Amino acid sequence: MFDLLFKNAAIVTVDPEHHVYFPGYLAVKGKKIACLGPMDELPEEPAAEVIDCRGRALLPGIIDAHGHSGHATLRYLGEGSGNWSYMAADLYCRYTDDFFWYADAATAAAERIKFGITTGVSMMGSLNRADRPELVGLHFEGALKTGIREFCGLGYSGNAPKTYRHFEKDGSFREYSVSRDEMLANAEKALKDYQGKYDKGIMMVSPSSMGKKAGLSDAVAAEENRAMGRLAKEYGTILHTHAYGGDVKFLSETTPEVLGPTLSLTHSTGLSDEEIDIVAKTGTFIFHGPCTNSVIRKWCPAYELLRAGANLAIVTDGAAPDRGYNMWREMKAFRTIHRIHEQTVKVAPPGLILELCTIKPAQALGIADKVGSLEPGKLADIISVDIDQPHFAPLLKEHIVQNLVYAAEGPDVKDVWVEGEPVMKDRKLLKCSEREIIDDAQKSLDTMISRIGPERMAVLLERRGLYGLWSECATDDPACFSGIEYDLQQPGK
Ligand SMILES: [Zn+2]
Repeated sequence: MFDLLFKNAAIVTVDPEHHVYFPGYLAVKGKKIACLGPMDELPEEPAAEVIDCRGRALLPGIIDAHGHSGHATLRYLGEGSGNWSYMAADLYCRYTDDFFWYADAATAAAERIKFGITTGVSMMGSLNRADRPELVGLHFEGALKTGIREFCGLGYSGNAPKTYRHFEKDGSFREYSVSRDEMLANAEKALKDYQGKYDKGIMMVSPSSMGKKAGLSDAVAAEENRAMGRLAKEYGTILHTHAYGGDVKFLSETTPEVLGPTLSLTHSTGLSDEEIDIVAKTGTFIFHGPCTNSVIRKWCPAYELLRAGANLAIVTDGAAPDRGYNMWREMKAFRTIHRIHEQTVKVAPPGLILELCTIKPAQALGIADKVGSLEPGKLADIISVDIDQPHFAPLLKEHIVQNLVYAAEGPDVKDVWVEGEPVMKDRKLLKCSEREIIDDAQKSLDTMISRIGPERMAVLLERRGLYGLWSECATDDPACFSGIEYDLQQPGK
């Protein structure tokens, strides 16, 4: 007997043969997909629950393989800043408390689920909070209460020693300094404490960046990269971070052992031809955020990478002043920007784009044998999309993949199952209170603002006239928060 049977759906499997069943059925037993196929091959077996999916498409859960814990709460501060990640890292180090990290993780995960994302990856902060492994636990508790599958972890965080504050519940704080050795020890302690602790919480090793590092000698940067690779290998986890042009070559020359399919490098803007070749030969994954500021500053050669046979996935890099965790928007941006860049409409087909948001990130995260496509034996991470709406009409079954990738948006996702368990039904989250998550996010931001103080907040909100909501940038000064004194020694790239 099946536990759950979907009937009359438009099923896009994203399997290796690109099967589409329309109308189709999909049966679930326990946590896994038992079988699926066209409706005229529906097995006789009874089911405990039957869902008629007329007007619905079923897809594998979308995977957002790169985002940041903390960013969902800060996202609307500092729009137009040339130095947003610098601002974020400073606020994370000096003005946040335990509740901030818990509430932020829940907010981001709730948004992800509501947009059909069943697996999310979150680095701790941007230049990460490498001072307290407990923050990883708080992140998992916030995220996992929504029912999502979540990756998180720690690693080196820019220059060291770095100053952090820990706020107590009464608002008092203590300030302390964390050395490079302590950052490494904390990354390992987080692995020891949380690897295997949560059913759907998966540990990774995640330094703020890999490659050359601003303010560090090449020898020290190489030693950090080596230590991160060693840690990931020892604990059998993936290694996930940011990198940019020149970093891949540096890794190849100094620590070639870290390159490979268990390493994923977000942005990778400005890669040289030689680096594209290294990425392709080693199987290293490149995570590309089509809407990110990085790709505005320098180009991510996604098509050069694809032509070279490299591994690529699309990510949100959420959240930021202009974006959340809406992978559907990234799909459309990918199509548009790469067609403009390639000056042809013959690239970026919708099926490929869907693979870059499902099976490819699953491969990068080492979970492609379990999720990333709808196939018998895989975990039932399934989303339903309401295609019975004017913007999908008229519908030809041969065009369903195109309809979904080009027309669907986050709010068109109606229901979400993770490992066969419903976590959203008709856009209502089932495992947690959406009201509470939104209220917690507001409370957390308000508390942080009260600590920052009115003078400094005025700079963050009004940008002292350098930037405005109604006027364009009036200065070339990249440090637009010029009235703010930063504690951090290393700006984001
Ligand atoms: Zn990022």
